[in-house]
Amino acid sequence: MRTEQAGSTPVASRPAVAAVDLVKVYGSGDTAVRALDGVTVGFARAEFTAIMGPSGSGKSTLMHCLAALDTATSGRALLGGTDLTRLGDRVLTKVRRERIGFVFQSFNLLPQLTAAQNITLPLDLSGRRPDRELFGHLVGVLGIGDRLKHRPSELSGGQQQRVALARALVCRPEVVFADEPTGNLDSRSGAEVLALLRQSVRDLGQTVVMVTHDPNAAGYADRVVLLADGRIAGDLDQPGPDRVAAALQQLAAAR
Ligand code: ADP
Repeated sequence: MRTEQAGSTPVASRPAVAAVDLVKVYGSGDTAVRALDGVTVGFARAEFTAIMGPSGSGKSTLMHCLAALDTATSGRALLGGTDLTRLGDRVLTKVRRERIGFVFQSFNLLPQLTAAQNITLPLDLSGRRPDRELFGHLVGVLGIGDRLKHRPSELSGGQQQRVALARALVCRPEVVFADEPTGNLDSRSGAEVLALLRQSVRDLGQTVVMVTHDPNAAGYADRVVLLADGRIAGDLDQPGPDRVAAALQQLAAAR
């Protein structure tokens, strides 16, 4: 049996992703911007968390530092037991490819590849074979089985985002980071994508962290973490859209 060192966090109770006193400063001298000002927060496994806050509050910066897309100035960005702030660029690329799934507002599919090729691209790049059973399951649940040979330009926005979702999930990543995933979708397609993210948490035990400015989108999450001026400004458990909107209004009024 594996024993834990005294004082360390047991693996099972360790958050999937965590920031510890995370600081990010852009620029220097008079023009320096402290985008993250000592953020400490953990995101539990198999939970759907939304990060919200006014524009400029540090949401994107926090997500980028936790997703190995940017490096923090100080503090720790933890993915499982790995401190991303200690890794070099090459290892970070590998971490992004193999351990993290991404869903972006602009879908970020490669136009020359078919839907199926886009879905398996991160696996292909890291020399891994797709799990055919999971691939089939995802394609079925996401309703894109008859679109697999199409290129992104032949798909609707909602279908493209479902392909991006399949690409993120098929790697069985430790976390899926979604950056305004419904920002380019009509409300019906957006609701479908959010319901599918929710379903991935429930059925696959997926951990999802989503940045959004939309209280309705945040209403799909188990938890909403609020940021203001680069600091944690609130933490809501199972809030509905109304409670999220009220908390955001309160934050705006306090500025
Ligand atoms: P949000 O996602 O909540 O809108 P950001 O994380 O994008 O906030 O930005 C937080 C702060 O950091 C803002 O003041 C923003 O202007 C600043 N910022 C973000 N990226 C850069 C950058 N590359 N260079 C300089 N300042 C930046």
